[in-house]
Amino acid sequence: MILTANTVSTFTIRDNFLALAVQDYQDLATDGESSQHNYHWRYDAVVPADPQTGLDPVLRQAETLIYEARPDFRTLIGNLAGGRYQLLLQDIASQGAYGATSERYHVILFDTGFTKLDNHDLAGVMGHEAQHAADFTASGGPVTANECYAFELRGFLVGSALWQSFYGPNGKPNPSNAFELRENAILLEFRQNPARFVKNLQTFYASECDTLGPGAPDRFLTLANLPPGIETQLPVAQAFAALRDPALAQRPLPGLQVNGGAQAPVDVRSIADLVPAIDRGSQHFMEP
Ligand SMILES: [Zn+2]
Repeated sequence: MILTANTVSTFTIRDNFLALAVQDYQDLATDGESSQHNYHWRYDAVVPADPQTGLDPVLRQAETLIYEARPDFRTLIGNLAGGRYQLLLQDIASQGAYGATSERYHVILFDTGFTKLDNHDLAGVMGHEAQHAADFTASGGPVTANECYAFELRGFLVGSALWQSFYGPNGKPNPSNAFELRENAILLEFRQNPARFVKNLQTFYASECDTLGPGAPDRFLTLANLPPGIETQLPVAQAFAALRDPALAQRPLPGLQVNGGAQAPVDVRSIADLVPAIDRGSQHFMEP
């Protein structure tokens, strides 16, 4: 099946995408000796202390990177493990995504291209998607457009906090691919101008989120169920405020200094000025 992000709607992509995932389940379930039970444990998320399973070592390594980055992040992986979510690598970049979390199927898919990159890149996407999984579990999916933006904001908060834990407040020195450039830019924009980040997020996710109806985003604008202490790592309150007050998100703000303000201001291009393709890639697909 040939689909491109430019020719079909996001929801069409999503529906076909999930259909492909289901097909893969069926393929996995009939693969070799496996039974329904067997294929399940092979791809279940694990915590580092768990015994070796059939989980791809690249995925396991990315889980471990998150687990060991900060104790605060361990719940992200703990929430996936124990049979709650399965982790699979697939060619999903061709579907316009780096990662995708399905509430219905309890699966997170990651693009196979990450196996060729520094594994911290996969871990960055995994952090974002793991937050979605945690929110699905605790709150269910977003039901209004504003909740959808807030839901995405939470994923980006975790991805950026993780990136910062790996590389520090300026991101990865000498980024070696477009994904790393993107992660650096998002982190810096988050730190310097969270309201502008929110405005960009609203632009990039409009086609996905605006299909939902009106309503307040407040159900997801809470520290509950985020990694503890994340508000000390990134300007979470300012980002939440920008989503609560659309006028604030529309108005450029002076750069904000966080984490003590010792960091010299960095000249950051808006993520909107970076590779347009990255933002197709930043989409993920949710159950309605
Ligand atoms: Zn997302």
